[in-house]
Amino acid sequence: MHDYDVIIIGAGIGGLTCGALLAKHGMNVLICEQHDKPGGYCTSYKRGGFTFDVPHIAGGLKDGALAEWVLGHLRVADDIDAVRVDRLARFVYPDAAYDFWTDATRLESELLRCFPRQAGSIRQYLSIQRAVWQEMMRAGRSRRWTESSGRGHAADGFRHIGAYGCRHAADR
Ligand SMILES: Cc1cc2nc3c(=O)[nH]c(=O)nc-3n(C[C@H](O)[C@H](O)[C@H](O)COP(=O)(O)OP(=O)(O)OC[C@H]3O[C@@H](n4cnc5c(N)ncnc54)[C@H](O)[C@@H]3O)c2cc1C
Repeated sequence: MHDYDVIIIGAGIGGLTCGALLAKHGMNVLICEQHDKPGGYCTSYKRGGFTFDVPHIAGGLKDGALAEWVLGHLRVADDIDAVRVDRLARFVYPDAAYDFWTDATRLESELLRCFPRQAGSIRQYLSIQRAVWQEMMRAGRSRRWTESSGRGHAADGFRHIGAYGCRHAADR
Protein backbone atom coordinates (compact mmCIF):
# COMPACT_ATOMS: atom_id res chain seq x y z
CA MET A 1 0.00 0.00 0.00
CA HIS A 2 1.47 3.35 -1.07
CA ASP A 3 0.78 6.67 0.53
CA TYR A 4 0.86 9.57 -1.95
CA ASP A 5 0.44 13.26 -1.22
CA VAL A 6 -0.73 13.92 -4.77
CA ILE A 7 -2.00 11.73 -7.60
CA ILE A 8 -1.87 13.31 -11.07
CA ILE A 9 -3.87 11.82 -13.93
CA GLY A 10 -1.99 12.25 -17.22
CA ALA A 11 1.72 12.50 -17.97
CA GLY A 12 1.50 15.35 -20.48
CA ILE A 13 3.82 18.33 -20.09
CA GLY A 14 1.33 19.84 -17.63
CA GLY A 15 1.13 16.77 -15.37
CA LEU A 16 4.86 16.09 -15.58
CA THR A 17 5.79 19.70 -14.77
CA CYS A 18 3.34 19.83 -11.92
CA GLY A 19 4.53 16.48 -10.57
CA ALA A 20 8.20 17.45 -10.83
CA LEU A 21 7.62 20.76 -9.00
CA LEU A 22 5.60 19.07 -6.25
CA ALA A 23 8.23 16.32 -5.88
CA LYS A 24 10.98 18.94 -5.69
CA HIS A 25 9.10 20.57 -2.84
CA GLY A 26 9.01 17.30 -0.94
CA MET A 27 5.73 15.73 -1.93
CA ASN A 28 5.28 12.07 -2.73
CA VAL A 29 3.73 12.13 -6.21
CA LEU A 30 2.15 9.44 -8.39
CA ILE A 31 1.54 10.25 -12.07
CA CYS A 32 -0.83 7.85 -13.88
CA GLU A 33 -0.71 7.72 -17.67
CA GLN A 34 -3.01 5.70 -19.94
CA HIS A 35 -0.58 5.66 -22.89
CA ASP A 36 2.54 3.48 -23.07
CA LYS A 37 4.79 6.56 -23.14
CA PRO A 38 4.80 9.89 -21.27
CA GLY A 39 4.59 13.31 -22.89
CA GLY A 40 0.99 13.65 -24.07
CA TYR A 41 1.00 16.03 -27.04
CA CYS A 42 4.65 16.91 -26.32
CA THR A 43 5.94 13.86 -28.09
CA SER A 44 6.54 12.52 -31.56
CA TYR A 45 5.24 9.65 -33.66
CA LYS A 46 6.43 7.65 -36.66
CA ARG A 47 4.56 7.13 -39.94
CA GLY A 48 6.03 5.56 -43.06
CA GLY A 49 9.62 5.87 -41.88
CA PHE A 50 9.25 9.55 -40.94
CA THR A 51 9.25 10.97 -37.40
CA PHE A 52 6.77 13.78 -36.78
CA ASP A 53 7.03 16.17 -33.84
CA VAL A 54 3.68 17.34 -32.51
CA PRO A 55 4.65 20.72 -31.03
CA HIS A 56 7.67 22.19 -32.76
CA ILE A 57 8.36 25.36 -30.80
CA ALA A 58 8.42 26.34 -27.13
CA GLY A 59 8.23 29.92 -25.93
CA GLY A 60 9.47 31.46 -22.70
CA LEU A 61 12.89 29.83 -22.61
CA LYS A 62 14.88 33.05 -22.10
CA ASP A 63 14.92 36.47 -20.40
CA GLY A 64 13.65 35.08 -17.11
CA ALA A 65 10.36 33.87 -18.58
CA LEU A 66 8.36 31.22 -16.79
CA ALA A 67 9.48 28.13 -18.74
CA GLU A 68 13.15 29.11 -18.35
CA TRP A 69 12.70 29.58 -14.64
CA VAL A 70 10.80 26.29 -14.17
CA LEU A 71 13.47 24.33 -16.06
CA GLY A 72 16.24 26.02 -14.03
CA HIS A 73 14.37 25.43 -10.78
CA LEU A 74 14.05 21.72 -11.64
CA ARG A 75 17.77 21.67 -12.60
CA VAL A 76 17.09 20.29 -16.08
CA ALA A 77 17.81 23.47 -18.09
CA ASP A 78 21.32 22.26 -18.97
CA ASP A 79 19.90 19.05 -20.43
CA ILE A 80 18.00 21.02 -23.07
CA ASP A 81 19.73 22.30 -26.15
CA ALA A 82 17.32 25.01 -27.27
CA VAL A 83 17.62 26.37 -30.79
CA ARG A 84 16.40 29.92 -31.42
CA VAL A 85 13.65 30.14 -34.04
CA ASP A 86 13.00 33.49 -35.74
CA ARG A 87 10.42 32.35 -38.27
CA LEU A 88 7.80 30.04 -36.83
CA ALA A 89 6.10 29.31 -40.13
CA ARG A 90 5.61 30.47 -43.69
CA PHE A 91 2.06 30.36 -45.02
CA VAL A 92 1.87 30.02 -48.80
CA TYR A 93 -1.34 30.62 -50.70
CA PRO A 94 -1.91 30.67 -54.49
CA ASP A 95 -1.79 34.47 -54.59
CA ALA A 96 0.14 35.40 -51.43
CA ALA A 97 2.65 34.26 -48.85
CA TYR A 98 3.40 35.53 -45.41
CA ASP A 99 5.80 34.76 -42.59
CA PHE A 100 4.90 34.17 -38.99
CA TRP A 101 7.77 35.78 -37.07
CA THR A 102 8.37 35.05 -33.41
CA ASP A 103 9.31 38.72 -32.88
CA ALA A 104 5.99 40.51 -32.28
CA THR A 105 7.00 43.80 -33.93
CA ARG A 106 8.14 42.01 -37.05
CA LEU A 107 5.01 39.87 -37.07
CA GLU A 108 2.82 42.95 -36.76
CA SER A 109 4.50 44.61 -39.76
CA GLU A 110 4.12 41.45 -41.81
CA LEU A 111 0.43 41.02 -40.95
CA LEU A 112 -0.30 44.70 -41.64
CA ARG A 113 1.48 44.41 -44.99
CA CYS A 114 -0.54 41.33 -45.98
CA PHE A 115 -3.91 42.27 -44.48
CA PRO A 116 -4.11 46.10 -44.44
CA ARG A 117 -7.90 46.11 -44.20
CA GLN A 118 -7.66 44.11 -40.94
CA ALA A 119 -5.25 46.63 -39.35
CA GLY A 120 -7.51 47.45 -36.38
CA SER A 121 -8.14 43.80 -35.47
CA ILE A 122 -4.47 42.87 -35.93
CA ARG A 123 -3.32 45.69 -33.62
CA GLN A 124 -5.97 44.82 -31.03
CA TYR A 125 -5.10 41.10 -31.10
CA LEU A 126 -1.36 41.73 -30.77
CA SER A 127 -1.89 44.25 -27.99
CA ILE A 128 -3.81 41.59 -25.98
CA GLN A 129 -1.07 39.05 -26.73
CA ARG A 130 1.63 41.51 -25.58
CA ALA A 131 -0.26 42.19 -22.33
CA VAL A 132 -0.67 38.44 -21.71
CA TRP A 133 3.03 37.89 -22.42
CA GLN A 134 4.07 40.69 -20.03
CA GLU A 135 1.99 39.08 -17.30
CA MET A 136 3.55 35.67 -18.02
CA MET A 137 7.02 37.24 -17.80
CA ARG A 138 6.04 38.88 -14.54
CA ALA A 139 4.76 35.53 -13.26
CA GLY A 140 8.14 34.00 -14.09
CA ARG A 141 9.96 36.74 -12.18
CA SER A 142 7.62 36.84 -9.20
CA ARG A 143 7.87 33.07 -8.50
CA ARG A 144 4.34 33.28 -7.13
CA TRP A 145 3.25 30.20 -9.08
CA THR A 146 5.32 27.91 -6.93
CA GLU A 147 5.77 29.77 -3.68
CA SER A 148 2.18 30.76 -3.01
CA SER A 149 -0.01 28.44 -1.02
CA GLY A 150 -2.99 30.80 -1.07
CA ARG A 151 -5.95 29.54 -3.09
CA GLY A 152 -6.37 31.57 -6.28
CA HIS A 153 -3.31 33.66 -5.43
CA ALA A 154 -1.56 32.91 -8.72
CA ALA A 155 -4.28 34.71 -10.68
CA ASP A 156 -3.91 37.96 -8.68
CA GLY A 157 -2.42 40.74 -10.79
CA PHE A 158 -2.76 38.76 -14.02
CA ARG A 159 -5.79 40.59 -15.36
CA HIS A 160 -5.18 39.95 -19.04
CA ILE A 161 -4.44 36.24 -18.63
CA GLY A 162 -7.63 35.91 -16.56
CA ALA A 163 -9.74 37.86 -19.04
CA TYR A 164 -8.28 36.00 -22.00
CA GLY A 165 -8.93 32.64 -20.31
CA CYS A 166 -12.52 33.57 -19.42
CA ARG A 167 -13.25 34.79 -22.93
CA HIS A 168 -11.61 31.99 -24.91
CA ALA A 169 -11.11 28.93 -22.72
CA ALA A 170 -14.14 28.79 -20.43
CA ASP A 171 -16.22 25.63 -20.34
CA ARG A 172 -19.51 26.11 -22.14
C1 LIG B 1 -0.61 19.59 -33.55
C2 LIG B 1 -0.22 20.38 -32.31
C3 LIG B 1 0.85 21.25 -32.39
C4 LIG B 1 1.21 21.99 -31.25
N1 LIG B 1 2.29 22.83 -31.34
C5 LIG B 1 2.70 23.50 -30.26
C6 LIG B 1 3.88 24.28 -30.31
O1 LIG B 1 4.56 24.36 -31.33
N2 LIG B 1 4.26 24.94 -29.18
C7 LIG B 1 3.54 24.85 -28.02
O2 LIG B 1 3.94 25.48 -27.02
N3 LIG B 1 2.43 24.09 -27.94
C8 LIG B 1 2.00 23.42 -29.02
N4 LIG B 1 0.88 22.63 -28.97
C9 LIG B 1 0.15 22.60 -27.70
C10 LIG B 1 0.84 21.69 -26.68
O3 LIG B 1 1.29 20.52 -27.30
C11 LIG B 1 -0.17 21.38 -25.59
O4 LIG B 1 -0.71 22.60 -25.07
C12 LIG B 1 0.44 20.63 -24.42
O5 LIG B 1 1.21 19.56 -24.87
C13 LIG B 1 -0.69 20.20 -23.50
O6 LIG B 1 -0.12 19.53 -22.42
P1 LIG B 1 -1.03 18.93 -21.28
O7 LIG B 1 -0.14 18.24 -20.31
O8 LIG B 1 -1.93 19.99 -20.77
O9 LIG B 1 -2.01 17.90 -21.99
P2 LIG B 1 -1.71 16.61 -22.92
O10 LIG B 1 -0.44 16.75 -23.68
O11 LIG B 1 -2.98 16.38 -23.66
O12 LIG B 1 -1.50 15.44 -21.86
C14 LIG B 1 -2.57 14.81 -21.22
C15 LIG B 1 -2.10 13.41 -20.86
O13 LIG B 1 -3.10 12.82 -20.03
C16 LIG B 1 -3.30 11.50 -20.45
N5 LIG B 1 -4.64 11.14 -20.00
C17 LIG B 1 -5.80 11.73 -20.32
N6 LIG B 1 -6.83 11.14 -19.66
C18 LIG B 1 -6.28 10.18 -18.91
C19 LIG B 1 -6.83 9.22 -17.99
N7 LIG B 1 -8.15 9.18 -17.73
N8 LIG B 1 -6.00 8.35 -17.39
C20 LIG B 1 -4.65 8.41 -17.65
N9 LIG B 1 -4.07 9.29 -18.49
C21 LIG B 1 -4.89 10.15 -19.12
C22 LIG B 1 -3.14 11.54 -21.95
O14 LIG B 1 -2.85 10.27 -22.49
C23 LIG B 1 -1.96 12.50 -22.09
O15 LIG B 1 -0.71 11.83 -22.03
C24 LIG B 1 0.49 21.86 -30.05
C25 LIG B 1 -0.58 20.97 -29.98
C26 LIG B 1 -0.93 20.22 -31.09
C27 LIG B 1 -2.09 19.25 -30.98
